[in-house]
Amino acid sequence: MAASVVVVGAGIIGAACAFHAASAGLDVTVVDRGPVGGGTTSRGEGNVLLSDKEPGPELGLARLSRALWFEAGDELGADSFELEAKGGLVVATGPDGLAALHELAARQEAAGVRAERVDGVQELEPHLAAGIPGGVYYPQDAQVQPVLAAAALLRAAVARGARVRTGEVAGAVTDGGGRVVGVRTAGGDGLFADAVVNAAGTWGGEVGRRLGAPIEVLPRRGFILVTEPLAPMVRHKVYSADYVANVASSEEGLETSCVVEGTRGGTILIGASRERVGFDTTMRPDVVATLAAQACRLFPFLRGVHVMRAYRGFRPYCPDHLPVIGPDPRVAGVIHACGHEGAGIGLAPGTGALVTAHLIGRAWRGADPAEHTALLPDRLVLPGGVRA
Ligand SMILES: Cc1cc2nc3c(=O)[nH]c(=O)nc-3n(C[C@H](O)[C@H](O)[C@H](O)COP(=O)(O)OP(=O)(O)OC[C@H]3O[C@@H](n4cnc5c(N)ncnc54)[C@H](O)[C@@H]3O)c2cc1C
Repeated sequence: MAASVVVVGAGIIGAACAFHAASAGLDVTVVDRGPVGGGTTSRGEGNVLLSDKEPGPELGLARLSRALWFEAGDELGADSFELEAKGGLVVATGPDGLAALHELAARQEAAGVRAERVDGVQELEPHLAAGIPGGVYYPQDAQVQPVLAAAALLRAAVARGARVRTGEVAGAVTDGGGRVVGVRTAGGDGLFADAVVNAAGTWGGEVGRRLGAPIEVLPRRGFILVTEPLAPMVRHKVYSADYVANVASSEEGLETSCVVEGTRGGTILIGASRERVGFDTTMRPDVVATLAAQACRLFPFLRGVHVMRAYRGFRPYCPDHLPVIGPDPRVAGVIHACGHEGAGIGLAPGTGALVTAHLIGRAWRGADPAEHTALLPDRLVLPGGVRA
C-alpha cells in the first residue's frame, strides 16, 4: 500500500488520478513538462460516451466513469467544466445499418446501458437530413470541456494537498532492490514517492521505457473542425452508425465517420478522422473536406456555415484498443494509466479511481481492481517478445 505517489502527466488522466489519490488521503505530486491539459486532452472533443462501446471491459469502466463524472460535478460544480448530460443520437443511413444498430443496442441494454429506439429522428434533431430511417437515442451520453475538467480536478487535488511541478521526466529513481521510488527530471531534480503513475498519454510508451517498464502505446491521429458560433441547432451528440466500427477498427489507413455536436459557446464540433501515421503533424485539407462533406449530408444547414478552424491530435492507443491500467508486473512501484485512445476524457474518473484502488490496496469509489483485470498491463506483449 502506497502513502505517496508521483503522477507523470497533467492531462485528464493524470488529473483524475491526482484527484482520487489525494481524496483518498495520499500525498500526491503531479509532474508535467508542459501546461495542464496541454497534450491530447486539449486536442479532442469532450464526449463521455456509453453509446459507442461494445459490452466488455471498456464499457464496464465507462459506466463507472460516467457515474464518477457526475459525482465530481456535484462536488466541484458541474458548470466549472461544462458537464452536461445532453444524450447521444446514433443514426443509421440505411435499413441494414438500422438493424445492426438495434442489435448493438440490445446487447448494450443487457450490459446496463439505457437505449431508446427512435423512428422519427427529426423529433430529437429537427435539422437532420430527410430520409434517415431511424436511430437509437442514448440518454446517458454526456459531455465535458476537457481542459476545464482537467484543471478542475487538479485544483481540487491541490486543495487536498497535492503539488503540481513542471519538468520533463527523464528516468526513475530506484532503491537497492530495483523498486521505483520516484522520478528524475531532465533538470536533475528528484521527486520521491512510494509509487509512480505513468499517465503520459500518447507518450506513455516512452515514459514507461524511461521508468524501465516499456509498454506499447501508439499515436492515432484525428482531425476536428470547429464552425463559427451559431444559435443552438444541434441538441445532442449525433453520429452515424459507422463511427462505432471505425473506433474499433485496426485499419492502418484513413477512416472518417461523422460526429456532430454543439458546444456551450455556440460552435459546432465536427469529427472525427482516424489514421496511424505516427506523430505526423501535417494538416490534411482532403481529410478536413471529407469530414465537412459527411457532416453536411447529416445536417444540410451546415452547407451555409463557415468553418472557423481545424485542429488535430494524437489519440494514445494500445494494440487491443483497451487502456492499460494497473501495476507493471516487472517493475515494482510503477502503475500505468494510459492508452485510452479516443475515450480518455470519458474514462478519466474511472481510471483515477481504479489507479487509487491499486495504490491503497482496496476498492475506491466503486472501482474494484478485481473487476477490471482485463485492463492490467500483463496482457501486452511488447516487440521483441517481452511480456509486460
Ligand atoms: C481528435 C480527437 C478527438 C477526441 N475526442 C474524444 C472524446 O470526444 N471523448 C473522449 O473521451 N476522448 C476523446 N479523445 C481522446 C482523449 O482526448 C484522450 O484519450 C485523452 O486526452 C488522453 O489523456 P491523457 O491524460 O492520457 O493524455 P494527455 O492529455 O496527452 O496527457 C499526457 C501528459 O503527459 C505529459 N508528458 C508526456 N511525456 C512526459 C514526460 N517525459 N515528462 C513529463 N510529462 C510528460 C504531456 O505533456 C501531457 O500533458 C479524442 C482525441 C482526439 C485526438
